[in-house]
Amino acid sequence: MSETAEKTVENHVFEADVARLLHLMVHSVYSDKDVFLRELISNAADACEKLRYEAITHPEMLGHDAQPHISLTLDEEARRIVVEDNGIGMSRGEMIESLGTIARSGTRAFMEMVEAAKGKDGAQLIGQFGVGFYSAFMVADKVDVVSRRAGSAEAWIWSSDGKGSYNIAEASAADAPKRGTRITLHLLEDAQKYTSRWNVEHIVKQQSGHVPVPIDLHEKPGAEAVRLTDGTALWTRSKSEISKEEYTDFYRSVAGQYDEPALTVHFRAEGRHEYTALAFIPSTPPFDLFDTDRKGRMKLYVKRVFITDDAELLPRYLRFVRGLVDTADLPLNVSREMIQESPLLAAIRKGVTNRVLTSIEKLAENEPESFAKLWETFGSVIKEGIYEDFERRQQLIALSRFRTTANEEPVRSLADYVKDMKDGQKAIYYLAGSSLAQLKASPQLEGFRARGIEVLLLTDPVDSFWVTTAPDFEGKPFRSITQGNADLADIQPLDAKEDKPKATADVDGFIAFAKSTLGDAVADVRASDRLTESPVCLVATEQGPDRQLEKILQGAGRMEQAAKPILEVNPDHALIAAIAAAPAGDEFRADAVQLLLDQARVLDGDKPADPRAFSERLARVFERALKS
Ligand code: ADP
Ligand code: MG
Repeated sequence: MSETAEKTVENHVFEADVARLLHLMVHSVYSDKDVFLRELISNAADACEKLRYEAITHPEMLGHDAQPHISLTLDEEARRIVVEDNGIGMSRGEMIESLGTIARSGTRAFMEMVEAAKGKDGAQLIGQFGVGFYSAFMVADKVDVVSRRAGSAEAWIWSSDGKGSYNIAEASAADAPKRGTRITLHLLEDAQKYTSRWNVEHIVKQQSGHVPVPIDLHEKPGAEAVRLTDGTALWTRSKSEISKEEYTDFYRSVAGQYDEPALTVHFRAEGRHEYTALAFIPSTPPFDLFDTDRKGRMKLYVKRVFITDDAELLPRYLRFVRGLVDTADLPLNVSREMIQESPLLAAIRKGVTNRVLTSIEKLAENEPESFAKLWETFGSVIKEGIYEDFERRQQLIALSRFRTTANEEPVRSLADYVKDMKDGQKAIYYLAGSSLAQLKASPQLEGFRARGIEVLLLTDPVDSFWVTTAPDFEGKPFRSITQGNADLADIQPLDAKEDKPKATADVDGFIAFAKSTLGDAVADVRASDRLTESPVCLVATEQGPDRQLEKILQGAGRMEQAAKPILEVNPDHALIAAIAAAPAGDEFRADAVQLLLDQARVLDGDKPADPRAFSERLARVFERALKS
């Protein structure tokens, strides 16, 4: 007979709230029961932190066992898991108070939420909350807590099946830890997996890898300890003490990526809202960069305990940033709703976003080459912010870099662009399309090249959207060169050839003929000032989307009918002159005009509208050319 049995066992009934919470735990169908480990480990770590704090004034409390420590012991045969710490421990009164009542407002709030949600949803809520000690009853049908308060001669055992009452009795010295708490979970049949080393190791590393107390694992009672985590929360150390290698290791564990971070941002916010943030920008794109839910992946910690990676700590356009925010200003059992509504979260969001952006700006200033790489990798995502983050729009536009007709590397900023604008130039010109090669070959560029006017070459789908929502940069509006009038007349060509043969043909007559021939296929036919080499090009009308945006909208099924384009012709082009000069009634003229339209389509990266008609016309024109 063990000594414990001789001591008086008192039976206590749980406070009504606890009984309700327990009922919920036991009957929950919540699938992620792993969280019980996180809760027990975080309690153990808290107990170590409390001891650390009390020992400041009572150093004798530490005795010979000064190093805080948590150990897990698995017992597959007995189907048990033991969580033990050498922290502050609990007295008898503290056990009754802490494990028999709900003293915490957070748990009470949780209960109310659950009551309000009722039934099935209640189970869902468990996953979103820190549910505390009672979560042990999700996996165990009996829980024993043996604890000795630091500095106390007596130890107590608390024991319950979670069904309404608990027993409390004095524990024998042999059965109790020298200091701290040992919690034994008698696991339910379907919780056998918590006696598997591999499984527990994985859960602990993932959920509690950065708890500030080292954690050891014993595969079975008496087995040698394996260290799971060393108890240093990297981000709590000061920047100057952390090596690049340590940051990289940590980045890899937190990001699940195996590259080097391109940028590391580590800071502590002080004042009204206190938190520590450690954020990394990867050097290669994460696999889920273009997932449709486009969620941020920053983790939220409360006092070094992982809470959630779903708190949207950063705006979507910074979703490639990995890392965490740790704050002591939220309760551990904070709910998703509480997180979302907390003014602290808003402050964190703002603070971390600002720091990440200013760090990128600094990189741009001090290490343009590293920045260029970063921009190449994530620029297309950051640009989403130009239309999603109204407050930072100008900042993001200024940060953006572009390929232009002046430099095909994406290195030109809009400040560079504006500085180099031509006399008389009023707008920032852009050409959007799907590939650089196609853009460079665009006839629409010719008149701009001839005048030395720089044109942004935009190849990201997102570009077509932000350019239409961003009203201007430094007072200069954005203008698509495939839309409306080019308005180039005011700007002098670089080498204005006085002796250039002026068009002699009847251009007006030709245009009238082309209009009647093409009919409904175009909105208009007109002479162009943006062409120098090519005979024709297509542009969009002043209203509505430009050529590229129209293609994107159509591709996404958001524009039913293609808008009719305007066919612009180059009055100085020999081909136009030749067609214009051909005698009226020559059927070759109609074929030629149709072919011109298809040619303009091809130059735009499209196909002829009617491939068969196109090929027949082409054959007729060839034949005639070869015969004559
Ligand atoms: P919380 O940790 O948010 O306070 P819990 O339900 O997890 O809520 O734990 C309730 C209380 O039980 C704790 O506040 C603490 O006082 C006590 N407790 C639980 N585990 C331990 C432990 N290992 N050592 C000391 N006290 C503990
Ligand atoms: Mg707790």
